[in-house]
Amino acid sequence: MKPKHGAGADGPVSRIGEFGLIERILEKFSIRNRRSVLVGPGDDAAVITCGRGAPLVLTTDMLVEGTHFRLEWSCPEAVGFKAVTANLSDVAAMGGAPVGIVVSLGVPASVTTRAVDGLYRGISNALSRFGGELLGGDTVRSERITVSVTAVGVLAGDRPLLRSGARKGDFVCVTGYLGRPELGLLLLRKYVGRYGGSRSSAMLAWARREIRDFRERIPAGMRRDGYACILKHLMPAPRMKDAQLLARQGKNGPSSMIDVSDGLSSDLNQLARASGVHIRVYEKRIPVHPSVVNTARRLGISAALAAVSSGEEYELLFTVPPSRLKSLTRVMSRNGGANLTVIGEVTEAQAVTGRSVVSRRGAVSLVSQGGRQGALTHRGFKHF
Ligand code: ADP
Ligand code: MG
Repeated sequence: MKPKHGAGADGPVSRIGEFGLIERILEKFSIRNRRSVLVGPGDDAAVITCGRGAPLVLTTDMLVEGTHFRLEWSCPEAVGFKAVTANLSDVAAMGGAPVGIVVSLGVPASVTTRAVDGLYRGISNALSRFGGELLGGDTVRSERITVSVTAVGVLAGDRPLLRSGARKGDFVCVTGYLGRPELGLLLLRKYVGRYGGSRSSAMLAWARREIRDFRERIPAGMRRDGYACILKHLMPAPRMKDAQLLARQGKNGPSSMIDVSDGLSSDLNQLARASGVHIRVYEKRIPVHPSVVNTARRLGISAALAAVSSGEEYELLFTVPPSRLKSLTRVMSRNGGANLTVIGEVTEAQAVTGRSVVSRRGAVSLVSQGGRQGALTHRGFKHF
């Protein structure tokens, strides 16, 4: 990539936000080698060709203590597991199958070997379940625990499934059921709370903790559903098999795809923006997980809002022309794939297109239960 130079106004990054910051970074680069770089920045992962080999899928994602997880609300195994999921989910979103990962680990000197063992147990479990090998990494001292993973995969079909392929008239579909991670986090905050002791005792408690320890903290009346939400928040699974199945359908498969990592509201906007289209979704069609319905009722909050804002779902969000939907649904159910729900449609092409990763315009509308239509903007977690 060739850097372009230019001065811009200075100021805190919080003023432009995560997507504004990414856009600002990427504005200064353009791909020089289009023969090797099939998909550059702006999608879930890059796709490159090396020599005469099959195209490779390449992506990276990092978990940082205090931002993505808290010592009180997690355990080492869950952090390792989720670091793999976050990456493999981006490989899945391109229609890829994992080959392996490299892991950069930053830990304070006081972290115990038991904690690192736990982290790598989580990494190992995730790789066994979803595919890929540990290929290497780097180990450094850092103030906060940081796990940065880079994943490499190969395409399962003939071509990558891009964010930019949605066309007017397509249905908008999502796999599985939404909302659990958001409520899992809320329950951890409410019933597990903050640790009052020193950081070193919090680190020791973190190292010894196992995921099932959280179960007892949830009030008995909501324990089953609440724990289901916590499990999905702490150890989410990527949709590897489903993504590969979808990708292998080729011309009969999805026209575009993205994984739900920032929240349905945000990822719908990313998809619409990348495709240069408007999307309309219907609140009543959004598949809310039954555990979310039950838990939200007990907590007195909106299950539907949780389902559109909830990040780190790692479900697949894709578009498909109506003529292909039936066969796609049949293929999925025959192969034990995920439940598919049509939540809306692509209504029109946008006037402005581009490879931008930022969604500033109102590209997505939500029709509420009552039939009112309004703009659906980012409702999930914001880094800045
Ligand atoms: P995802 O949620 O799928 O991981 P992100 O929203 O994190 O995607 O990133 C959007 C796009 O911007 C991706 O293609 C990613 O590779 C790219 N990107 C994000 N951060 C940076 C960065 N610091 N430098 C270069 N590219 C970046
Ligand atoms: Mg993604």
